[in-house]
Amino acid sequence: MEHKNSEIVETKKAPYKPEYRVGDIPDDVLKAKNVRISVDLTLWEKLYLPEIIRGLTITSRHFFQNLIGFVIPPAGKKRRIDTIYYPEEKPVIPPAFRGRPSLVTWPDGREKCVACGLCESICPAQCIYIIGGERRGDERYPVIYNLDLSLCIFCGFCEEVCPKEAIVMSDIYEDLATYDRESMLYTKEQLMMSEKELSTRLDYVRRIYDKCNY
Ligand code: SF4
Ligand code: SF4
Repeated sequence: MEHKNSEIVETKKAPYKPEYRVGDIPDDVLKAKNVRISVDLTLWEKLYLPEIIRGLTITSRHFFQNLIGFVIPPAGKKRRIDTIYYPEEKPVIPPAFRGRPSLVTWPDGREKCVACGLCESICPAQCIYIIGGERRGDERYPVIYNLDLSLCIFCGFCEEVCPKEAIVMSDIYEDLATYDRESMLYTKEQLMMSEKELSTRLDYVRRIYDKCNY
């Protein structure tokens, strides 16, 4: 059960169907890659030298493709220039990017966080500090939610462990560096962002975790 706009709503596990598709990554690209679990080497791999030659071939192919392909692009392909004139030009941030962690709010501005403390426990940098409280009788919320960004390693564990989609890695990367460590201690109010602002990342993580059967 979870609270939504002061009502108690029964939640059932149902296949996730996104209402919006702003991440713009096709499902087949998000498909989990095949991982070879067996560590037994084949006879070919045990010969050792062929695998070294194969690795060198792949590396050399990429090297020459990048070196020559930029000047003389392969037939039918356009010359691609990846340089942008930052900060006048802003890069397009892919949804997989992990920027500053942000707290998600309901449309009425309340925190989705229920102060369960899971993110605080899992955080390897121990940079989250929460004091939980109750309002309207039985609604848990974080009275204090501090995040010390000078310690954060942007691992995304807090986002992964949160049962309420209450904290996600936003696409914020600018203005995080500072000469003053104290200004890197973010309070709850500074971390809060609306679902709409974080919709790209929310859509992305739902699709990723859905595939991993979380
Ligand atoms: S991203 Fe990692 S280090 Fe940063 S607050 Fe979340 S769990 Fe902690
Ligand atoms: S952000 Fe999520 S995991 Fe962290 S205390 Fe709030 S509800 Fe729990």
